[in-house]
Amino acid sequence: MPVHCPADPRYDVVVVGARAAGAATAFLLARSGLRVLLVDRGRYGADTLSTHALMRGGVLQLSRWGLLEKIIAAGTPPVCRATFRHADAVVPVTIKPSYGVDALYAPRRTVLDPILVDAAVASGADVRFGIAVADLDRDRRGAVTGVAGRTRDGQAFRARARIVVGADGIRSTVAERAGAPFERVGTSAAAATYGYWSGLETDGYEWNFRPNAASGVIPTNDGQACVFASASPRRIGRGGVAPLTQIVAESSADLAGRLAAAVPPRALRTFTGRPGHMRRSWGRGWALVGDAGYFKDPIGAHGLTDALRDAELLARGIIAVVDGADERDALARYEMTRDALSTALFDVTDVIAGHRWTDDEIPDLLLQLNAAMASEVQALAALPPLPPPTDQRPSTHSSPQPHLTRSRPVPCG
Ligand SMILES: Cc1cc2nc3c(=O)[nH]c(=O)nc-3n(C[C@H](O)[C@H](O)[C@H](O)COP(=O)(O)OP(=O)(O)OC[C@H]3O[C@@H](n4cnc5c(N)ncnc54)[C@H](O)[C@@H]3O)c2cc1C
Repeated sequence: MPVHCPADPRYDVVVVGARAAGAATAFLLARSGLRVLLVDRGRYGADTLSTHALMRGGVLQLSRWGLLEKIIAAGTPPVCRATFRHADAVVPVTIKPSYGVDALYAPRRTVLDPILVDAAVASGADVRFGIAVADLDRDRRGAVTGVAGRTRDGQAFRARARIVVGADGIRSTVAERAGAPFERVGTSAAAATYGYWSGLETDGYEWNFRPNAASGVIPTNDGQACVFASASPRRIGRGGVAPLTQIVAESSADLAGRLAAAVPPRALRTFTGRPGHMRRSWGRGWALVGDAGYFKDPIGAHGLTDALRDAELLARGIIAVVDGADERDALARYEMTRDALSTALFDVTDVIAGHRWTDDEIPDLLLQLNAAMASEVQALAALPPLPPPTDQRPSTHSSPQPHLTRSRPVPCG
């Protein structure tokens, strides 16, 4: 017997994947009064393969949503400075307060993701971990109507929804089952290895770039600093302290000295590389957000910021549908906006991740990266506040879809 929520409620939205993109989308939708189910095959609060430097756009989103104070309360240190090193140049940049963002933050994923999940729960979303979605249900005309999968203990699971959101990461099952075509695929795939050092002297983000030897420092919770090295997959190999310290020594003698004086981690984690992609991110009854629809190499440290950005862009599109807009128009507009804000960043990240640039070329590539980020922040800062729940604002029209409801959700199991 498939497991259903009590009385088999049909949700407005089922979101698959409960991390940066999915939990944020579920939070924003539930906060606006939609009936939302958020599922993930993993466990609440578990770590994942990812460093976690947030750029200004990501911090701005958390601040706009009222969640930044929880990140700060979790002991995440403010990052007030970033230092770029390339060839013989050392370029310190002070993070200037703007758009209400006074500092950057790099919360561990064990801090950031649960804060977003908790916010979704507090807003009324049903959240269930230990559910692996394997397929999409469709109606006779091919529109997606729900998800099917299994619980951790092997029971069949089904949930119906007006819109299914795939926030299930790089190897998205929702994207694959929806048949979402790749619209762009990058040409480069760098590898990265990283770990957490204690007692490392640092005064902020550090980004060091030499040909086929990039490294950096990301100060984070519990007095630790995440140190990473990025290079071609061949150079990183299976990762670990040996290639990392070699790459750090090549890219910054200064960091190498401080690293030697700090306490190394017992183990490092290694990403073996994957080219970026942009997928068609909507269709009848489905949409993609986060890495599922748009992934780029971690060298630009921008995936989380984009996930938080696109969670809001998609939530706005879905809320517009609930408020009577044409689904195709609203979701196509979401993808168009995402792509307009992402293409320059995607392109320059792909070049940097190729690790085929010279010392002379990298300063200009970093300027391009910075310019792409600046226009994203401006676009986010210009967004009006999200609509409040329907019970707090006048309804001007009824939804054309009878099962699109704006009532508060019924708690699930
Ligand atoms: C090595 C590395 C370093 C990085 N460093 C940074 C950085 O410093 N800064 C930055 O901004 N970004 C960084 N990124 C990118 C960042 O990790 C991603 O952009 C971000 O995790 C995307 O979030 P997401 O919610 O889309 O997907 P994910 O975080 O991948 O979450 C997807 C979720 O979906 C769940 N899921 C998957 N399939 C199913 C299924 N079938 N059923 C149910 N649940 C499912 C998974 O369990 C998972 O919890 C890095 C990435 C890597 C690999």
